[in-house]
Amino acid sequence: MTTHQPFAVLTKRPLALVFDIDGTLSPIAPTPDAARLYPGVTDLLKQARQYAHVAIMTGRAVADGAAMVNVEGLTYIGTHGLEWCDGLPTTHTVHLIPEATAYIDPANRLLDLAEQQLSDIPGLIVQRKQVGGTVHYRLAPDAEQARTRIIALLEEPARQTHLRLSEGKRMVEVLAPLNINKGEALRRYVAHVQAQGVVFAGDDRTDMDAVIETAHLRAQGIEGLAIVVQHEDTLPDLLEHADLVVEEVPGMVQLLRTIVTQLAAH
Ligand SMILES: [Mg+2]
Repeated sequence: MTTHQPFAVLTKRPLALVFDIDGTLSPIAPTPDAARLYPGVTDLLKQARQYAHVAIMTGRAVADGAAMVNVEGLTYIGTHGLEWCDGLPTTHTVHLIPEATAYIDPANRLLDLAEQQLSDIPGLIVQRKQVGGTVHYRLAPDAEQARTRIIALLEEPARQTHLRLSEGKRMVEVLAPLNINKGEALRRYVAHVQAQGVVFAGDDRTDMDAVIETAHLRAQGIEGLAIVVQHEDTLPDLLEHADLVVEEVPGMVQLLRTIVTQLAAH
């Protein structure tokens, strides 16, 4: 972990506050649909947006992530940056990066395959997005066997259609083979709002790119703070690159409250 003054970033304007959802603002739930924001988060986000540009950046589809947070006036960045919306998608236009459209059908065929061929795995959940989706095996009785079967089934067809498979906590994602990740998305968002300071918080493998991007931005004179929410299975690499580590979602929410208090005091 690097040492620096964690809250110097909060004096920067424009300021961007960017949060992952699952495992960061909401405790990990048995199924994605069962996940809810931790109590108090909605109000804290509403307060934060008075002082900063606030974005939600998630691996979930943008509509899904936005429905979960449901606070107007935030930017919702979904599918790791593939799609975004300045405001709630129910009332604002969702943008999809143009290069992605060619992969909609091939990715759907891969997810169809998972649904058809792996239906005997109890608790398997296929979650679809505008492009690609996620196969969750958190509820499978034998998680390791489920993982092996998912990979074995999808690896070759993914290769043939140039789709990418990426693994997260008890899930395999089907992704368009584009240079889209949370780091790239963070860089674009910071440019979009012309931020001079950026706070990013996340907890999982796909957040690593954004954590690293805060260091790149710092080298370009943009103050950055990378917060990692620690769970029992957090990647050591992620912790190592964090500027600040908080314990579980309650620790993150407590920090968010401190951040909002500091913003309000200036
Ligand atoms: Mg997460």
